[in-house]
Amino acid sequence: MKVLVINCGSSSLKYQLIDMTNERVMAKGLVERIGIEGSVLKHEIEGKDKVLIQQPMENHKVALSLVLDALVDEKHGAIKDMSEIAAVGHRVVHGGEKFSGSVIINDEVIKALEECIDLAPLHNPPNLMGITACKELMPNVPMVGVFDTAFHQTMPKSSYIYPLPYELYEKYGIRKYGFHGTSHRYVSQRAAEILGRDIKNLKIVTCHLGNGASLAAINGGKSVDTSMGFTPLEGLAMGTRSGDIDPAIVTFIMEKENLDIEGMNNLLNKKSGVLGISGVSSDFRDIEAAAKEGNERAQLALDKFNIRVKKYIAAYAAVMGGVDVVVFTAGLGENSPSNREEICKGLEFMGIQIDPAKNNVRGKETIISTDEAKVKVLVVPTNEELMIARDTQELLK
Ligand code: AMP
Repeated sequence: MKVLVINCGSSSLKYQLIDMTNERVMAKGLVERIGIEGSVLKHEIEGKDKVLIQQPMENHKVALSLVLDALVDEKHGAIKDMSEIAAVGHRVVHGGEKFSGSVIINDEVIKALEECIDLAPLHNPPNLMGITACKELMPNVPMVGVFDTAFHQTMPKSSYIYPLPYELYEKYGIRKYGFHGTSHRYVSQRAAEILGRDIKNLKIVTCHLGNGASLAAINGGKSVDTSMGFTPLEGLAMGTRSGDIDPAIVTFIMEKENLDIEGMNNLLNKKSGVLGISGVSSDFRDIEAAAKEGNERAQLALDKFNIRVKKYIAAYAAVMGGVDVVVFTAGLGENSPSNREEICKGLEFMGIQIDPAKNNVRGKETIISTDEAKVKVLVVPTNEELMIARDTQELLK
């Protein structure tokens, strides 16, 4: 079975065609600048050079149509005919309280997703555009929706309720939803496999540290707490997002800086985090380089980021009554030995101890804790696309 995995952003479309007989990626690519000048499709197939297709793409349907053409192209295609695509798996950011697992997409699901737009105004509309484009271009191919929020639907109410008037939860659905669920699910399951342990008997803290970053407490394979919240703004200090701050700061800044709602949202989501503190960049590589050259604010940004991850690891151990495994994943988690070292330093009292030689690894599944350490610490590159393809195959069986 060949599954096409699609992840649509407001002006982008990422895709992978996966052969599920051996879970091999046959082709993958990215369309950028959809609906704006300079649209480009970067298409890659196993063992061949990248192909760049530059032409105007006014919407996601045009972009997807070019992707499908590229997939069946005689020269740089991966399949002979569109009919070889047995199913499409869509990444969907927000499933609200309606979806606690992946689903086969039908009209009822599309309606439910439209109802979730209020909760994810930036993310769900482009996800829906991808679904609509597929429906129009491949009307007979079944589709599955895999939600970022679904994995965290197992959180107990005490984790997801905010200490606000309860009616606001009932009226607007204001609660913690959590995100990156597909990634937390994949790396926790993979870590258990690598360790040869049954996930049902493990207490795992997964650290998804990328431009957006979140942690999850996973007890017996189920998410019981996570650091992102009602939106992906809560929790860690991120590339450009503030994460946890005193909520009173919001109205204080709005008053002092004369900011409206949009201005304040922009400040918290686009100008804060490690970019805000360092003034250097939102990219950890630039910040690490600046800190090495003695830039104090760059070092301060790294320190703030690391201490917060450390605090969440310890907090989640407390939530679960212990921790057996800590997993690092995503851009920074997979690729920055120095960050992992700083985060784990001082957690020896909990049985966390990493081996500097083993920790000197990038983008490869590795156990980086010392042999004696009570807690196993692992680097596991995330693979959300594979998880989406697996769910798609499973649901259509
Ligand atoms: P992601 O959102 O998972 O794609 O992660 C992107 C982030 O990972 C970038 O903003 C970088 O800050 C970080 N990153 C990627 N590679 C490295 C690296 N070699 N060293 C440090 N940070 C990295």
